[in-house]
Amino acid sequence: MKKILVIEDEEFIRYNLMELLDAEDFDARAAENGVIGLQLVREEIPDLILCDVMMPELDGYAVLSALRSDPLTATIPFIFITARADKNDLRKGMQMGADDYLTKPFTRAELLGAIATRFKKQQAMEERYNSTLKQANSRLNRLIHYDSLTGLPNRLILRERLNQFLSKTTESSQIVPIFFLDLNRFSSINDTLGPSCGDSLLKEVARLLSGVVSPEDTVARLNADQFALILSPIHHQREAAHIAEALLDALSQSFLLNGQQVFITSSIGIAFYPKDARDIDTLIQLAETAMSHGKNRRGNSYQYYTSQMQVGSKDDRALESALYKSLSRNEFEVYYQPLVNLQTRQIVGAEALVRWKHPELGMISPGSFIPLAEANGLIIPIGEWVLKTAAKQTKLWHRSGFPWLRVSINLSCRQFSQPGLSEKIVEVLAATGLEPQAIELELTESILMQDVPSAIATLGQLQAKGIKIAIDDFGTGYCSLSYLKQFPFTTLKIDRCFVRNIANDATNSAITTAIIQMAHDLNLEVIAEGVETEDELAFLYQHGCDIMQGFLFSRPLPAIEFEQLLRTEKCLTIKN
Ligand code: C2E
Ligand code: CA
Ligand code: CA
Repeated sequence: MKKILVIEDEEFIRYNLMELLDAEDFDARAAENGVIGLQLVREEIPDLILCDVMMPELDGYAVLSALRSDPLTATIPFIFITARADKNDLRKGMQMGADDYLTKPFTRAELLGAIATRFKKQQAMEERYNSTLKQANSRLNRLIHYDSLTGLPNRLILRERLNQFLSKTTESSQIVPIFFLDLNRFSSINDTLGPSCGDSLLKEVARLLSGVVSPEDTVARLNADQFALILSPIHHQREAAHIAEALLDALSQSFLLNGQQVFITSSIGIAFYPKDARDIDTLIQLAETAMSHGKNRRGNSYQYYTSQMQVGSKDDRALESALYKSLSRNEFEVYYQPLVNLQTRQIVGAEALVRWKHPELGMISPGSFIPLAEANGLIIPIGEWVLKTAAKQTKLWHRSGFPWLRVSINLSCRQFSQPGLSEKIVEVLAATGLEPQAIELELTESILMQDVPSAIATLGQLQAKGIKIAIDDFGTGYCSLSYLKQFPFTTLKIDRCFVRNIANDATNSAITTAIIQMAHDLNLEVIAEGVETEDELAFLYQHGCDIMQGFLFSRPLPAIEFEQLLRTEKCLTIKN
């Protein structure tokens, strides 16, 4: 039932209108003046408003202008009722954004006609809006999931495929082979014959590979000359070997590029689910390790992964034992990278990024030690230390003249799934005195996808405490934005791989434009990460991005230097 609010000071007209609307099965409400009317609109959010122009105190124009300036009420259809058929009054009302008007006295048919027209228009608009949203979403999915050169799916789809197989594989004896295929000498072909020949070669390779495997198998292009394949479940490793031979065979022919005959060789590495690993990222990585071992020996070969191949594992062990002592030795430091609002051009917050000052090796970036800490569980105490430190520091800044500053904290997978996470965060906030609204937690899509129901529950708890959530590295994960929408979050961070060279790279600009549009349609705030050039910034500004972060404005800084930056009130400059 549609809800209609009547704002009218003349009791007789108000009463008549109510009766008429009631009889037509509308849910009719009434207000006897503009002030009560505004209050009711905000409480009830009606589907349509009928409002008198001439009222004491707050007249109809004032009501309309208050409604239009509030995003919550800006789009509610609004029909003026006026006694004076004065053209100027009507024009003024329409210019202020009224949708229609009725001049008193009006007939029942006129009233119902005006209401029906409004609802019809509203519905058409909603339909159009939904279909634009749908289109943008599917375009975005296509851009994110498929390689524009070869039309092959990319890395993001492999995970979905693996999951599909796993849900179907009931026999425990079955294994899923993952291939990593690398074209040897591709870059020299690209350099000597030119990139357009390189492109045709890649397209041809993609076609040949797809021809060898069966339709249930997936061939994906990972980057320049590297491909990955997921085959449907098999029983014996040797079945994978047959396919590897067939693939190598298909590629060992001559390609005619620009009138020249070109031969290529390729190397394949193979890893198996579940023997070697259970998640797609690790499986691809192990298959790649196997590929480089085979490549070292000779071209046109395939190689299974074995655990002896793990490269750098000795270094990792040394690093790991140092990591155990690092917390007690106070070797960590939190750096802060500014987040800058593109409208005000001013710093609005910071992302807290941890650094490890290793006594011998110097500064170690989180990219190298977070995966280790995640694997051995040290990420829990490290993460807690980062949270405490950043919360304490932010509170200090709040007290010293920057009360609006917000801080973003990264959570890794293991941290997010630890029991009692939200209680722990609330404890830290209480101890430091920092308001929950000042904190935003950054999570990646893949973290949320590990266990969807419990992720939704945890996010709900955090949100109930007033803590904001951002999706980090958006676009590098595995899902569409509309799917992600089931998680309560407020901010979306576009990964820097989409920001790079955005002004000149057609794919990146299409993806980023679509992400910003969709995010705004869903009422999310958009942060672009890794902004390095003025061109990237100008593009983001023109396309309505809200916040930027990147070396162009500032690298991550130690707390003291970040504070100096705050005090200088450094502003972002955007070129036109
Ligand atoms: P992230 O969350 O995507 O953080 C942004 C990374 O991009 C940071 O790398 C930052 O220094 C870098 N960056 C910022 N602007 C630019 C730019 O303009 N160009 C380029 N090329 N890079 C830029 P960093 O500090 O090395 O951190 C790497 C990753 O480690 C982070 O990626 C985050 O996932 C993780 N990490 C950092 N601190 C923590 C932490 O306290 N806890 C957890 N769990 N993870 C953390
Ligand atoms: Ca982050
Ligand atoms: Ca990020």
